[in-house]
Amino acid sequence: MTGDSMVLSARRVRKQFGALVALDDVDLDVAEGSVVAIIGPSGSGKSTLARCIHQLERIDAGAIYLDGELLGFEHKSGKLLPLRDRDLSRQRAQMGMVFQQFNLFSHYTILENLIEGPTRVLGVPRKEAEEKARALLARVRLSDKVDAYPRHLSGGQQQRAAIARALANEPRLMLFDEPTSALDPELVGEVLEVMQDLAAGGMTMVIVTHEMSFARDVADRIVFMEAGRIVKEGTPKEIFGAPPESRLGRFLATSG
Ligand code: ADP
Ligand code: MG
Repeated sequence: MTGDSMVLSARRVRKQFGALVALDDVDLDVAEGSVVAIIGPSGSGKSTLARCIHQLERIDAGAIYLDGELLGFEHKSGKLLPLRDRDLSRQRAQMGMVFQQFNLFSHYTILENLIEGPTRVLGVPRKEAEEKARALLARVRLSDKVDAYPRHLSGGQQQRAAIARALANEPRLMLFDEPTSALDPELVGEVLEVMQDLAAGGMTMVIVTHEMSFARDVADRIVFMEAGRIVKEGTPKEIFGAPPESRLGRFLATSG
């Protein structure tokens, strides 16, 4: 499989924090319109991988491509140099990321949260950005919260608003890092439902999650990480059929 038919390709990606190897030769391919779930124990490198893809961390070796374009670096006079901030912002805007903590701008209304990125980073006219924002908020069923501030929303509503904000740049890829882990149990479903709708609509998605039944139902492929490596990768059927005595099997047994 060649990397250039993929929305996202990671090749031998390595990331260290001092002596700690957080990502060790990670390869990942995400095909257009597919959903890849990343599972694994705490500390296995799942967030680091998502953050490296979204260029919140700079990788130490290897390469990550979005639609075949190298992320974070450019070839210049025979050298590989870190990308300048402006080019990096443009690349990052092609990916939407949703975190465990909703990180909406607390001093902006929900509508303003959605307009900020497209108008400032992408130069979309305000009226156009606002129309699109209202449509996105309707899609995540928050039309009645357009003028509210984040603190007036439940955790589930805030997370749905964060998803809408990530969609406002019309990203090629959506990244989720445990988007339901900080939510009260009764609010998890409404967020997973929005994510399921997105997947059904053909969005290309990478989802770090502890929600095993969601991964089983929605993911096309599941990647199991341990100690900075991808230990196993397969369809939900293959992953959940792992022998109980294998490392993956033992992980699944403790993850509900
Ligand atoms: P996961 O998301 O799977 O729980 P992380 O990607 O957060 O794992 O972390 C992988 C490893 O990298 C862990 O050992 C973690 O302590 C370490 N790590 C992550 N971020 C940093 C950082 N900014 N500085 C130092 N160590 C880090
Ligand atoms: Mg994490």
